[in-house]
Amino acid sequence: MSRLRPALLLWLCAAALHAQPFYFPTANRSLFDKGGEEGFFTGTVGKPWMSGTFGCVRTDGRQMHEGLDIRCLQHDKRGEPTDPVLAAADGTVAYFNKKSGLSNYGNYLVLRHVIDGLEVFTLYAHLREIRDDLKAGAAVRAGERIATMGRTTNTREGISRDRAHVHFEINLFVSERFDAWYKKFHPGERNDHGIWNGQNLLGFDPWEVFREEVRLGKNFNLVNHLRAQTELCRVFIRESKLPLATRLAALVIPNPRADAEGVAGYEIALNFNGVPFQLIPRSATEMKSKARLQLLSVNDAEQSRNGCRKLLTKRGTRWELSSHGQQHVELLGY
Ligand SMILES: [Zn+2]
Repeated sequence: MSRLRPALLLWLCAAALHAQPFYFPTANRSLFDKGGEEGFFTGTVGKPWMSGTFGCVRTDGRQMHEGLDIRCLQHDKRGEPTDPVLAAADGTVAYFNKKSGLSNYGNYLVLRHVIDGLEVFTLYAHLREIRDDLKAGAAVRAGERIATMGRTTNTREGISRDRAHVHFEINLFVSERFDAWYKKFHPGERNDHGIWNGQNLLGFDPWEVFREEVRLGKNFNLVNHLRAQTELCRVFIRESKLPLATRLAALVIPNPRADAEGVAGYEIALNFNGVPFQLIPRSATEMKSKARLQLLSVNDAEQSRNGCRKLLTKRGTRWELSSHGQQHVELLGY
């Protein structure tokens, strides 16, 4: 073997690593085996594996599950899960909760990443333990062990040993002013996790991301992936300096007319989970109505296929934002 070979091998490994933004967060790799879904996902009690995937998969399709429930592979003598949980990408620790009673996520950890110029957050929930030395801001590498799989939660029914799993999400962060929004729309309710409340993190489907990474290889681009989401609706927020447009600058579509005439607000395309995936600045002359929040259009097919977030409601023959949808769009505008 020539002396160059190990160096070449290292280079190839590094190149391969750079080609893929996200990795599986545990050693469970059966997702792409033929019929491997059964071994990859943990369904809810008595339900098939589909109930452990992302989307309108809970309560007979009426309820959203915002992540993947990835099945445990190894147990200790007492039947408790021991699978290492791994960082899905290079990043830093954004937040962790080690008081499992304070969340239905139990012990959970959030990592921050910047991928293809976009800030995204991965979340790992129901952890048995989080690595002690991980403090907020600590850097982690893709594939590094960050925690141990578990079954922590604050729900009364709990999670049984045989359903131990990591709940894994890939999210966009919504608003630095989440606390103010929460006080306004949930008066008197406790929020133990500040801006790291799950409502301030909007998940998109990690399975689709993994699938597209396999399909496109090094051509996978997270921004392109998001911009191609199926649209549920379009809204307009009359806010010329929308913080979300700064945060998600990679998803802003330039509009020369708004540049020339001045930005009055933003037209935003939302997917069925309310994820803003295209933001278009609009000028005052483009937007005739003076309303602060407007519903511009609805994709009926997507609403009937994936309407479980209940962001929209029908009055007579016309769609409008439900009160929940209104609050959601308010949060996007905060
Ligand atoms: Zn879950």
